[in-house]
Amino acid sequence: MQGIFFCNSAHLCDQGLTINGKLYPYPELAQTVEVRRGWFTLSLLWGEQRFRFFHWANCKPLLRLALDNRLASRKAQLQQAFDDLLQASNEFEQAFSGHQRYLRDSDLQRLQQQYASTLKQFALTEHFSALGFDIERLKCRLAKFIKQPQLFTDKYNQWWQTQQLNAHKGLFDALEAHPLTELQRLACVIDEDNTLVIAGAGTGKTSTMAAKAAYLVKQGLAKPEQILMLAYGKDARLELAQRVQSSCQLSGVNVSTFHALGKEIIQHYVGRSTQVSVLASDEKQFTQFIDSQIDCIVADPDMADPVAEYFGRYLYPQRNALDFKTEGQYRSYLKNNEIRALSGDLVKSFQELIICNYLYTHGIAFEYEPTYPGEYTEPGKSVYQPDFYIPVLDAYLEHFGIDKQGNTRADICKQAYNQSRDWKIALHQANGTHLMQTFSWQADAGKLEASLETQLCARAEALGLSQSELFKPISPQMIFSQVKALGVYRNVSRLMASFVSLFKASGMSIAELKRIKLGKFAESQQALGQTSTASKKQTKQLASYNQLRWQAFLHLFSWVIKQYDAFLAQQNCIDFADMINQARDYAAAKDFQQRTANRFAYKYIMVDEFQDISMARAELINALKAANPDCALFCVGDDWQAIYRFAGSDLNLTTDFAATFGTVKTVSLDKTFRFNNQIEKVASRFVQANPAQLAKQLTTHHCSDKPEVKVLIDLREAALQQALSEIVQCSQLAVDKESRTTLVANKPSVMLISRFNSSVKDVATWQQRYPQLAISAMSAHASKGKQADYVIVLDVNDDKYGFPSKIDNDPILDVMLPKLDNFKDTEERRLFYVALSRAKQRVFVQAELGKASSFVKELLSYGNDVVCEASDLAALYHDAACCPNCNEGKLLPRQGRFGLFYTCSLGKDYCDTKVDACTACKSAPMLHNQTEYFCVADDCNNKLKRCPECINGKLLLRKNSKTGQSFLACDQFRKGDATRCKYTSIAMSTDH
Ligand SMILES: [Zn+2]
Ligand SMILES: [Zn+2]
Ligand SMILES: [Zn+2]
Repeated sequence: MQGIFFCNSAHLCDQGLTINGKLYPYPELAQTVEVRRGWFTLSLLWGEQRFRFFHWANCKPLLRLALDNRLASRKAQLQQAFDDLLQASNEFEQAFSGHQRYLRDSDLQRLQQQYASTLKQFALTEHFSALGFDIERLKCRLAKFIKQPQLFTDKYNQWWQTQQLNAHKGLFDALEAHPLTELQRLACVIDEDNTLVIAGAGTGKTSTMAAKAAYLVKQGLAKPEQILMLAYGKDARLELAQRVQSSCQLSGVNVSTFHALGKEIIQHYVGRSTQVSVLASDEKQFTQFIDSQIDCIVADPDMADPVAEYFGRYLYPQRNALDFKTEGQYRSYLKNNEIRALSGDLVKSFQELIICNYLYTHGIAFEYEPTYPGEYTEPGKSVYQPDFYIPVLDAYLEHFGIDKQGNTRADICKQAYNQSRDWKIALHQANGTHLMQTFSWQADAGKLEASLETQLCARAEALGLSQSELFKPISPQMIFSQVKALGVYRNVSRLMASFVSLFKASGMSIAELKRIKLGKFAESQQALGQTSTASKKQTKQLASYNQLRWQAFLHLFSWVIKQYDAFLAQQNCIDFADMINQARDYAAAKDFQQRTANRFAYKYIMVDEFQDISMARAELINALKAANPDCALFCVGDDWQAIYRFAGSDLNLTTDFAATFGTVKTVSLDKTFRFNNQIEKVASRFVQANPAQLAKQLTTHHCSDKPEVKVLIDLREAALQQALSEIVQCSQLAVDKESRTTLVANKPSVMLISRFNSSVKDVATWQQRYPQLAISAMSAHASKGKQADYVIVLDVNDDKYGFPSKIDNDPILDVMLPKLDNFKDTEERRLFYVALSRAKQRVFVQAELGKASSFVKELLSYGNDVVCEASDLAALYHDAACCPNCNEGKLLPRQGRFGLFYTCSLGKDYCDTKVDACTACKSAPMLHNQTEYFCVADDCNNKLKRCPECINGKLLLRKNSKTGQSFLACDQFRKGDATRCKYTSIAMSTDH
């Protein structure tokens, strides 16, 4: 009906409202009945109906009557609702008084669902009141709960916790040597579906696990056998078991490793015992197996091509040279990753690597960077060394880093580079030596090898050499044995072994693997903002190189994994990955509990070192949880100490816990009993520089009023000596202070920590020299979970085996590893934090002069919180001065036969720069610009002109012994050596 409808007649009866003869029954109680006044009409809202009355003044009494009538007509219904509510309230009351524990999120959800309908009924309170029901009876717990469930739960849990903390005060006070901290206690009594305890280094995580179990049993929340505790390694399991099961009430608690649990689940589900392969339990045998498989591939004639391809061409992942700011950075990358050609030469670019390996695999002998006969000095540089010499062709080869237009990369002077190229070409022409040239643009176009081959063939033809005299291709076996002989092989074998483990854990198929594109490695480089065309071209070339390398690797991998699986099948064994994955599948099966006779019926699953969890293990836990309704998960870990990504640990499972496990209550233990406030200040600041780490504020049990982190800038040997004698002194003081007898029995412990295991092998020697100390040595990874009075972190250098490690992750392995946050050196930073936080009293950090890594520099920027001591040579070192040739290395002072000089920190294989010490102050290097040499020391103004003839020389003031006249002479001059520069000029002035 459209428009305004004017009513003529309306009257009420028991059944409802009759308007113009039509009956409209009373609307439901939830529906509205009211009159709204308009400008010249009155509207009656009657449930869904709407009637308009024109100037009907008498509508109010009618309306009141209508409301009363409606209530009366619904009275029976309301009575029912009221009674229902009272009953629900009673039920809730009863259920609640029987609950007697923490109200978990799942409890909240369940109750909310169960009593959802009462929310509507509580809304009728106004009507109940109008009918004279006793609404006081509705002021019940259910009403509070259903109206504000979260608030109700929070308040209840607050009350419950306080009550529990009081009730179990005795337990928490006496369980450990120290009474538990407030937060440790809280972690015990919080009984959420998921509880995550973030336990910083030394905050007593094992105590908390043990206390939690004791509390659960004492409070009657679980029987010991309904508690499952999971640890990673056997040692961690043992420690946990000793702590927990020492009390006889808790001897029934299940303390297991993930693997043992997996094995047990499989065993009870399939009803027979499964054998774990020796390859899984013995790392050495696993590596040997992988090695022997690679040997077998090489022996398989069908695999000759893939083998030659992978080992001959794709041994290393490539990085775009243009992604590095300077040539020096590029070279230091090559150095740190030890990019070595098959010939054994350490090359200075990936393009040189291609050339070397081409020549090597084609059996063409060559010399890398030989000295050109005649010892010509290249202008502005040192003795001329062409890139390659090929004896069989009596030819030199120069590879030039330019595009077709002669452009160089941005940090290299185009003019100087091309001048140097012209000089080389002219020199070869003048001396009649044959020069072949290759270029970067050929490599970018993927034509480097083809161009090289064409030139080789042309030269051979000119010399009348047949192709078979030139090319003597090396067999895949030969290539392979060369790879082994060079020691590069370990990388391949390690890569293959890690890949096998990670692949198995991932549950992926080979087909899925083959669909993966490895382009993202190059793409991420591009995202850094490299937009030049040259860079794009190189990036594209690189992406296809890395993709081809990936395919070549998969070719070998498919072969190995097939043999590996066959071996397991033949032995009737499984490995650790199978164990976890199968256990997960069985735990998820509908008949799991039935088939295992409720052997795995848990009420609590507790996980130690949770930050190390991998996706596969997380899935196993979730499956177990699903198989046990009401089972709670209690995890203890420290995201600051997550250092096992290479083994598949996924830190995101901790930092984004809820995404995988559901709603979680987090407790951060804040008091550390290990180290003092000084170490805490430095270590916490260091690790929290990464905003992706969870923020926490630690307090310390021990305090010191002086800085306890000391940086020693010196050679390893000297620094160690110094640190150890200092420790002896410190502990001697402590002995004097306390009683002699107590401390003599307890030698102070010293832990030498380095990034790599290989650099802490001389510990026995140091132990002999310092018998009054208990010295141990280990890698940073191995130091996890251990502690010592003193820690010395060694070789924190900006170097291959330094800290942070400069060894690039292989993009092939990255495919299988969990995602990292984007913070620079994120995992290395945590690892360094682990090293720092092992110490109870003092940490020493050693780095070599001029090689201090970014981590050391960061520590040194902390002002008074970190002290630094340096060797005597440090006075001669100038951090601001870079190597003039590579612009990357630092100039390191050296004492030579002729006094002080400086060398580039990249080392002579990558940058053989030598710089003289200042002729005046003799304590700083001299650098140069276009026209003169200048001393880099701030307080020395020594300047010398560059020799205009040889460019390299400095002009020194000399005096003619006969005439007494002063003149300037090139310092390259050597009496009796005709090849040396003889430049002299009359001294104009003696300005400084
Ligand atoms: Zn250099
Ligand atoms: Zn000087
Ligand atoms: Zn000169």
